[in-house]
Amino acid sequence: MTETKNRKGQIFVLSGPSGAGKGTVRKRLFQEMPMLKYSISCTTRQPRPGEIDGTDYRFIDETQFRSFIGEGAFLEWADVHGHLYGTLFSDVERECSAGYDVVLEIDVQGAMQVRNRCNRCILVFLSPPSIEALEQRLRLRGTESEESMRVRLRNANYEMNHASGYDYLVINDSVEEAVRRIREIILSERNRYASSACLQGR
Ligand code: 5GP
Repeated sequence: MTETKNRKGQIFVLSGPSGAGKGTVRKRLFQEMPMLKYSISCTTRQPRPGEIDGTDYRFIDETQFRSFIGEGAFLEWADVHGHLYGTLFSDVERECSAGYDVVLEIDVQGAMQVRNRCNRCILVFLSPPSIEALEQRLRLRGTESEESMRVRLRNANYEMNHASGYDYLVINDSVEEAVRRIREIILSERNRYASSACLQGR
């Protein structure tokens, strides 16, 4: 608790193609690092079976999403796989001000927007060991239609081509090892920054 009183939190962006294991890695990371906060995104896509509104995403309709855009409420937003996804500025600001480090699990378009707007962000790209491994994971997950699979695999190439714009690249060939590496990144980056303003502008 004392740590949160004296420091402003940092933003850690976690990106990687769909099926790279971001969700699994992130959940394990949060078990090990309770001081982290997860930023719950807004999305216009339909919930998958088992997904809970307000926990996994805020599931909103396109009218509401576009009105948030108009109000400038998003720190970042993007059209991903044909649906809109966005991070509310107020959510991130609240947690950072309270001293928590915030993890944004977002795509590469959103990551670049955060980089441009925030002076205390670290970008981590989680990559699958190969495109073949990615396809296998997506099929095992069994949540996507053939059409959605096709779109996600095409986008995977696009995302992988942007990995060089990130601060860190972590290959997810073992969940334990990926979690250990991201944990180390967070711990060492925490020590690198003095407490200063978390977000620029607005
Ligand atoms: P999914 O539909 O599989 O949950 O997510 C699809 C993609 O959207 C993933 O790459 C995920 O990281 C990305 N995504 C989720 N939330 C956000 C967000 O708030 N902003 C952006 N730019 N991408 C997001």
